[in-house]
Amino acid sequence: MTRRAPRSARRFLLLAPSICAVLAACSPQPREYLFSGPAMGTQYNIKVVAVLSARELQAVDQAIRDVLAALDTKLSNYRPDSELSRFNQDTSCQPFALSPETEQVFRIALRIARESGGAFDITVGPLVDAWGFGPHPAAQPPGDAELAALRERVGYQHLEWAGEHAIRKKRPEIQCDFSALGPGYGVDCIARALEQRGIHRYMAELGGEVLAKGLNAGGVPWRIGIERPVSGEEESIQRTVHLRDMAVATSGDYRNYREVNGVRYSHHIDPATGRPLTHPLASVSVLHPHCAEADAYATTLMVLGPDKGLAFAEAQHLPAYFIVHKEGGFEERATPDFAQYEQAR
Ligand code: ADP
Ligand code: MG
Repeated sequence: MTRRAPRSARRFLLLAPSICAVLAACSPQPREYLFSGPAMGTQYNIKVVAVLSARELQAVDQAIRDVLAALDTKLSNYRPDSELSRFNQDTSCQPFALSPETEQVFRIALRIARESGGAFDITVGPLVDAWGFGPHPAAQPPGDAELAALRERVGYQHLEWAGEHAIRKKRPEIQCDFSALGPGYGVDCIARALEQRGIHRYMAELGGEVLAKGLNAGGVPWRIGIERPVSGEEESIQRTVHLRDMAVATSGDYRNYREVNGVRYSHHIDPATGRPLTHPLASVSVLHPHCAEADAYATTLMVLGPDKGLAFAEAQHLPAYFIVHKEGGFEERATPDFAQYEQAR
């Protein structure tokens, strides 16, 4: 959907005790059910702890698929007929009426763009393509003149609200890309659908972004592993967080990157330079009650880098955990608010 395929769902690992079989035997005790499938160019995995009839099970499965299919028609910049693609193609600079979902994504994105001084910026789409990512990846990195021209087409300040539920471009060539928060928003929408069905204990994951609600099948907070940021290797866990009613999202440089003539390019663009990141931050994980925000803030901290990112996270009281490349390995950093989530409760 909003994402290119390489976005991996493997940045987290779920560490659940395997007690489902025991619980299943003493019905009507809650059981653990697993739902999974493709979405947004990646994968979703959802665990639900509940008592469900076969019919309800099917209804939940369908509800999850419906939510994701509906989001695809709105937020995808890979589908030419989506609401976002229609907005991107519209060069009229007239107010563009938004669906409630697309409006909500714009509101979160523009708020975090302002808070971060433009480090988070959904108008980077043309630059993302130019550096070889996105729906129309260029084969070669842009030269200086091309880069200068592209930067004219980027800047969240060229978007403005036009009445209650409409947005307007101030420059016709502005294009938006929701990839940095779409999966997290998708998780929040799945969560809403589950809650509407009376389900309040679940772990919903899409593209590596996770929301954990209530207690797991073992009656304790969900244990989510934060992956060691190493590409091409078997996944291994660097840290584990214990989550209840909390989301965690991770941004990293270790899965989605490309190499041209021996130079490695990140899929994260620093809007201040128009170029991919060059700092040594390997990955950053952010906790937030809402997964869309966790996703957007993880990208924001990734762009800001290990020093400015840490300062921003501390100022915003975000629980955040950074893994920084260092000669011969990694260095870890965390905000004071992070430590409590590493303790089993
Ligand atoms: P990942 O979790 O895979 O590391 P992110 O959630 O950080 O991914 O989103 C990365 C995507 O966000 C990029 O592929 C690109 O489409 C988009 N992007 C790149 N730079 C920025 C930026 N500065 N602000 C907002 N979105 C960005
Ligand atoms: Mg993100």
